[in-house]
Amino acid sequence: MKSPRFLVPLLAIWQIAAVSQAGWEAGLAKADITPGDPVPLAGYGGKTRLSDRVEHAIWLKALALRDETGATSVIVTSDLVGLSDKMIARIAAMARDKHGIPRERLILNASHNHSCPVTEDVLWLYYEFTPEEAAAKDRYTARVYEQYDAVIGAAIADLAPAELAYDLGLAGVAVNRRRARGPESRAFGNQVDQDVPVLTVRSGDRLRGILFGYSCHTTALGGLSINGDYAGFAQLELEKSHPGAVALFVQNCGGDANPLPRIRGRDAEATELAAMYGRILAEGVRQAIGAQMRPIAGPLRVAMGSTELPLEEGIPLEELKRRAPNLTGMPRREFEHFIRQYETLGGPPDHVDYPVQVWQFGKDLTFIALTGETVVDYSLKFKAAHGWNDTWVSGYNNDLLSYVPSLRVLREGGYEGVTGMFEYGHRAQYTEAVEERITALVDELVKQAGTPAP
Ligand SMILES: [Zn+2]
Repeated sequence: MKSPRFLVPLLAIWQIAAVSQAGWEAGLAKADITPGDPVPLAGYGGKTRLSDRVEHAIWLKALALRDETGATSVIVTSDLVGLSDKMIARIAAMARDKHGIPRERLILNASHNHSCPVTEDVLWLYYEFTPEEAAAKDRYTARVYEQYDAVIGAAIADLAPAELAYDLGLAGVAVNRRRARGPESRAFGNQVDQDVPVLTVRSGDRLRGILFGYSCHTTALGGLSINGDYAGFAQLELEKSHPGAVALFVQNCGGDANPLPRIRGRDAEATELAAMYGRILAEGVRQAIGAQMRPIAGPLRVAMGSTELPLEEGIPLEELKRRAPNLTGMPRREFEHFIRQYETLGGPPDHVDYPVQVWQFGKDLTFIALTGETVVDYSLKFKAAHGWNDTWVSGYNNDLLSYVPSLRVLREGGYEGVTGMFEYGHRAQYTEAVEERITALVDELVKQAGTPAP
């Protein structure tokens, strides 16, 4: 008969195994989406810009998380300007059918990089392509779809036991850009969110992933090189100082923020400044990682919903027809688009659909994923409502959609509130219901995701 003392270490081993099985599994992957040939560049309207060199590679990056219930969720970040509804639908269907990831467990964020290629129909009213440029855009888009498939599959294949931790850093790069538009804009305030939320993924001593965010347009650069702007430089910097780790950048509510000052025209100096902004952001992340971070427990409960954001009345058909012939370039394309909508749909839609996702990590962290170019007020508002230190409010998920003003920004007017709407194909500005509709949906989803299943 074996001595009973042998049972003690056996039991201890069994308990350790049970604990690690009850925790997280995480997987990380990255896929290179740097174009090999010159391609039309995204982000700035007006003239079509073709890339002429690569400053550094651009990427899709994925973090897959499996919680103790076995549910798998994936967030994919990208050095792209944004995604369209068409792209979201295709990527989400692929993630569901091929990789078993339900829509509400897939978050697709774009850094809003303005030094990346145009894809599919994102901001399509901005551009007028030659057939060769359109073909280059379509070839590149096909490759991006393939890489979304590859990066999601690779992150899931990489799932392994892991520990998550969270904290905030700070970085003083974002400035409210509405103040920088000449004398009439000086009445606007300098509302910014300079928090740098950081979620780390470790397996034992090994740092495998750094998911970090910031609320600021990736518009430090405006030349003809392919690069990830300040966010690309920050990711490079972090992957250099933490070899083997994947650094993923999440764009938060940077709709009305720019990295300022910016340099235009002097490319070498502009690139050095963008790299410096990236180093500042990376240092904010490193200081968060270097301090005592809070462990983040599961499960990961998710909620997804949608609300309708009503639009003001558009321009009547007769007026569109009268004015269109006198217009050129993008304004002409916008008017022709609205005329077509009258002819095919009976008129431009009177609202847009606005999806929101909430991921609730145990009791420790609430990740709110808003759609479109959300202004900073939403980040500040939802952090005040749901916890400054344990709420992460990201924007630029799903469809790039439009600028999404708060009631304040809508009433102040200007590009992010009013005049930017036509570029996205919408008939007019949002009505004053915009902020209350989004707030009601967010509050409802935070409650849903925070309520354990019966
Ligand atoms: Zn923008």
